[in-house]
Amino acid sequence: MQSITILGATGSIGASTLDVLARHPDKYKVFALTAHSRVEALAEQCARFRPARAVVGSAAAARLLSALLKERGVCCDVDYGEAALCEVAAAAETDSVMAAIVGAAGLAPALAAARAGKKILLANKEALVMSGQLFMDAVQQHGATLLPIDSEHNAIFQSLPQSYARSPQGCGVAKILLTASGGPFLARAVETLEHVTPDEACKHPNWVMGRKISVDSATMMNKGLEVIEAHWLFGASAAQIEVVIHPQSVIHSMVSYVDGSVLAQLGNPDMRTPIAHALAFPERIESGVAQLDLTAIGTLQFDKPDFARFPCLALAFEALAAGGTAPALLNAANEVAVQAFLDGRIGFRDIDRVISRVMFDLEHGAASSIEAVMAQDARARGAAEKIVAGVTR
Ligand code: NDP
Ligand code: MG
Repeated sequence: MQSITILGATGSIGASTLDVLARHPDKYKVFALTAHSRVEALAEQCARFRPARAVVGSAAAARLLSALLKERGVCCDVDYGEAALCEVAAAAETDSVMAAIVGAAGLAPALAAARAGKKILLANKEALVMSGQLFMDAVQQHGATLLPIDSEHNAIFQSLPQSYARSPQGCGVAKILLTASGGPFLARAVETLEHVTPDEACKHPNWVMGRKISVDSATMMNKGLEVIEAHWLFGASAAQIEVVIHPQSVIHSMVSYVDGSVLAQLGNPDMRTPIAHALAFPERIESGVAQLDLTAIGTLQFDKPDFARFPCLALAFEALAAGGTAPALLNAANEVAVQAFLDGRIGFRDIDRVISRVMFDLEHGAASSIEAVMAQDARARGAAEKIVAGVTR
């Protein structure tokens, strides 16, 4: 029996994870579930999965959750705040941690899981983008296991030989081919992007996801963050990572080898596949996802990305090249700009303008400690908020 903590249980990845777990009650039990503000949804999940611990974002949310659980006759220890998130991520009673909080808020608990030597199923790419080397060092020093949930990185992981982690040089890897759907605005006239609405940006053609990552997909910042994520997970340089537009999202990514071979992982676009893969690794379990019907799909297309249409992708490559705290700066400015867009405070194209201004205005430094990274994150958020406040619509 594997015991699991789900950080961000009420989100899209959290719900998909619980769906997979529910199919295998003999193999997995839930130790802790966490949410931020969707307390009713968390109460429902607690009633169904009976975790020992539940964590929410505030004292008021904790009081409400306790009351809802009492009504349902569910016995569960309720807590709130970052320290409690870190505690349930590092607790002796849990073997695995699904890191599925969105954004920088997920860094501290994911790091706590790494420092406690847990098996970490990493969906929260922002944590790795912000703290890259520090996070990977913590994983190594504390004997943690890091398994990628992001569908592209899970596909790359599946397409690499298992010996890659021990000796990447000996494996003959030439390139990582990171596929991208191109999002909802791949074919839309560029000059109309200024006026797209949050609902249009969140309408992804292939995937159902949370609103922040959906906007990231529309700007292709998501792919930019994934380039940085691939750099840290697989030790690949920017030159070894190629982004390939593949609108069908059937090939989730590929690895090309020096002998001309290209290995790929294919599947229907449903996050339960990478989640089930990481949960059971190195075995396989059923995920509830239908088998791929290639003849029904018929055609797979590939194209080069257009950096002029998607300036956020170029900004992410710049941040990776700059190194240090530059990716943390990029990520923080992006989080502020995306939230401002979702709130109707700025337009879609202002997102890349805000990030670009923050990256130009602020100096990045060495990512020598988590404190240095968090200080840069705070500076970038402050700068981005000021720029957002100055945007007239
Ligand atoms: P959602 O917005 O659907 O869910 C986010 C989860 O994080 C919710 O449980 C939310 O709680 C919680 N949360 C939000 N803010 C905080 C906070 N400040 N402190 C603690 N918890 C918080 O996001 P997704 O599930 O779509 O994405 C989660 C992560 O996985 C992201 O990093 C994303 O990039 C990554 N990912 C997602 C994919 C997808 O298909 N959705 C694919 C690949 C990666 P509440 O609901 O209570 O607000
Ligand atoms: Mg992805």
